[in-house]
Formats: sequence, structure tokens, C-alpha cells
Amino acid sequence: MSLKLDCRQLKKEELLKLKEKIKKEALQPVLAIIQVGSVDASNIYIRNKRKAADEIGIATTLCSFPEDVCQEQLLQKIDELNIDPNVNGIFIQLPIPTHLDEAELINRIDPKKDVDGLTTMNLGNLVSGKPLLTPCTPNAVMDILEQLNCDITGKKVVIIGRSRLVGKPLFHLLLQKDATITLCHSKTENLKEYTLNADILITAAGTKKNLITADMVKEDAIIIDVSIIRDEQNKLHGDVDYETVKEKVTYVTPVPGGVGQLTVLELMKNTVQAQEIQKQYTLTKKR
Ligand code: NAP
Repeated sequence: MSLKLDCRQLKKEELLKLKEKIKKEALQPVLAIIQVGSVDASNIYIRNKRKAADEIGIATTLCSFPEDVCQEQLLQKIDELNIDPNVNGIFIQLPIPTHLDEAELINRIDPKKDVDGLTTMNLGNLVSGKPLLTPCTPNAVMDILEQLNCDITGKKVVIIGRSRLVGKPLFHLLLQKDATITLCHSKTENLKEYTLNADILITAAGTKKNLITADMVKEDAIIIDVSIIRDEQNKLHGDVDYETVKEKVTYVTPVPGGVGQLTVLELMKNTVQAQEIQKQYTLTKKR
């Protein structure tokens, strides 16, 4: 690996910049987090988000509901948060219990407060080339590429994974940067044929460790591994066989310590951006 980027350090530095911006511009962003049930993993993720927010001057409010909450109650809460002028961002901690209609809940969020960027409206804005708020994980990938000073224009980019959360939004973010993109998925035949040609390879399959081995990547490629796979020993892995691949390529993100480091940062950035969008919207409405 000839390029170096410490994502933990980057997160620290970027959070500090955001803190300074919030202070300098006397912003008072507020993020509402909706939690259903009390799964350990969700508790940890929420604690991390609230801690980061608190450190940089974003207030959080936690709206907790029991595991058996009904759809109507959640929709009502989202409606309340949508019209509350003191709330700038609304975030639903996923996954939520299966009796709930996740898509309906997400789409009930005002797109101007949709800090996860997952409403159909915001994904549509992205596809139409006029993004408002974009999803946090793809944003983290774009930040890493920017930090690496990676020239995306005209480059061959291969994305593995076509989910609404990662692959699809990433496709459009990269398209806006003039990349030539191939989107692979579980039905793609001969994956290696595509990965071997990639100047930039972004993997988000999450099905098995070492899906991507050194013989599948181009020398000097840049590889961003989004996946988080937990093995029987509770150890975390990505899609990429990191130890062998890192010897061949220009850069590959580690797991843990890579993309995952930046998703909380992206949520904080989106919350500040949401407040700016709302201010602008109020001003335009008054004119
Ligand atoms: P997902 O909804 O399960 O999507 C996985 C995608 O990968 C699907 O499009 C699937 O194809 C494709 N795929 C699966 N196995 C494949 C294979 N062997 N070859 C080619 N394509 C394959 O998952 P997701 O929500 O996008 O998340 C993907 C991974 O990223 C997971 O490990 C998740 O934990 C991780 N993640 C990490 C972060 C972070 O902060 N670092 C954030 C979000 C997600 P089909 O569409 O054909 O099924």
C-alpha cells in the first residue's frame, strides 16, 4: 500500500472541524433518534451517536418505544417531529421489528429532516442529480476517496452490492463525479472479470469473508471495503482478504477501522446540513 489514510484520525479531525463550525456560526442543531425495542447492538450504536453529537454541540433527543409499538404510534411521533421547529434531523435506528412497515416510516420523515438520506424523495433527488441529503455510508466512501485525493473522473469503478442503503446511492454519487461504474450483485457471473478491471473497487456484499482475494484485484487499485462480517469468534471482517490484498494495491480500507469509523461523522454532518437547508427553506418561503 503506497497511500496511507487513518480513518479514526480522519473522523477525529472532521468532528473537530464540525464542532468549530457549529460554535462559530452559533448553530444549535437538534437530532431526534427513534428507537424501537432495546437490542444491545442498537443501544451501543445510539450511545455512540449521542456521545459524538454531544462532543461537538449537537443536541440529541431519544424517542424510545417498546418492541411491540404499533405503526400508527410511530407515524404520529414522526409527524410531531416533522413539524417541531426545534428538531433538525430525524433518524430511525435500524433494524426495527418486522411487524413494522420500515419503508412507510422512513418515507414519513420530512425530506429536509431525513439525515439518513433514505426517503424515496431524497434518493430521487440524488438520482435526478439534485441531491439534498444523501445516505451516510455512501457519503463516508466518497469522503475517503476525497481524502485520498483520488481522481474519480473517467475512472473504472466497480461496486459490489446494489442495496438501497449502499450500492445504489453510491452509484449515483460516483456518477456525479464522472466515473464509469459497473454495479455487481449476487447474480453477477464471473465477478473476477469485473473486479480485475477496477481502478476503484467498492465492496458491500457482506456475505462471506475473503470474497475478494489478491488475484481478483488490479495492481494499484484503490479498494474501499464497506462490509462488516462477524465470525464465530465474534471477530469482524470485511469482504476483502485484507492481509494479502494490501500488498498488491495502492490502498485498501481495513475492517474494522475503515468506513465504519466515518458513518457517525456523516450523520453529524447531515444534521448540520439539514439545519442549513431548513433555514434556507424558511427564508425562501418568507420572500
Ligand atoms: P444488503 O442489503 O444485504 O446488500 C448486499 C448486496 O450485496 C446485495 O445487492 C447482494 O446482491 C450483493 N451480494 C451479496 N453477496 C454477493 C456476492 N457473493 N457477490 C456479489 N454480490 C453479492 O447489505 P447492505 O445493507 O448493503 O450492507 C452490505 C454490507 O455493508 C454488510 O456487511 C453491512 O453490515 C455493511 N455495512 C457497513 C456499514 C458501515 O458503517 N461500515 C454501513 C452499512 C452497511 P443481490 O441484490 O443480488 O442480493
